Amino acid sequence: MVKLSFPVSPLSDLKTLYAKFNLPISSVDCGEKCRLNNPNGVPFCCDIHYAIPAVYPQEKAYFKTNTELWFDYQGAAIPDELDLPENLLFMQCLGASRCQREFRSLSCRQFPFYPYVTSDYRFLGLGLEWEFKDKCWIFENVRLVSPDYRYQFIQVYDEIFAFHQEIFDNYAEHSAIARKIHAGIGENLLLLHRNGRNYRLKTGNNLRMP
Ligand code: SF4
Ligand code: SF4
Repeated sequence: MVKLSFPVSPLSDLKTLYAKFNLPISSVDCGEKCRLNNPNGVPFCCDIHYAIPAVYPQEKAYFKTNTELWFDYQGAAIPDELDLPENLLFMQCLGASRCQREFRSLSCRQFPFYPYVTSDYRFLGLGLEWEFKDKCWIFENVRLVSPDYRYQFIQVYDEIFAFHQEIFDNYAEHSAIARKIHAGIGENLLLLHRNGRNYRLKTGNNLRMP
């Protein structure tokens, strides 16, 4: 008799998932670069005044039983423009000086990138969170993003998307917003393609890639 096996959400085993997505973005410590431009003296993506971490409920549960690093977001009201997908929660950590790398959330690990999905629903590679263009050092230094980091990012999101259609849909929507915004300001959209190359995509078309 054949035993059927059913896929299990990678979010149900975060220790394993995090271990697959644990590399720094670059051999250069980008936090040491960007914090020099932050009046608060910490990397922008670890500064609650600029970036509010969003986590999946499975991550919140995992943190609760494994670390004191995270707590519910205590800050001011969430700005309207931060329209969070239903399956994410805002949280707050103890701050950069007390970070525990093994308990960084997926959002920490992927910043400043998001999985870029084309208008015909292909997960093509890594887009950049455009709101941080004038703050995040990586934007001007994407050539220094390590191939191994890119590989881990793509592997992990391939795995997540295979199980979670709703997360894929969220990023398809996020990518559509990115196309609209870039088209509106007349800028090309920077993509770190899964083929290992970087592209500046013209917005306003279907973004068919080589
Ligand atoms: S990802 Fe960007 S914002 Fe975060 S530490 Fe690196 S340069 Fe700074
Ligand atoms: S957990 Fe670490 S990487 Fe994530 S926001 Fe906090 S200090 Fe930054």
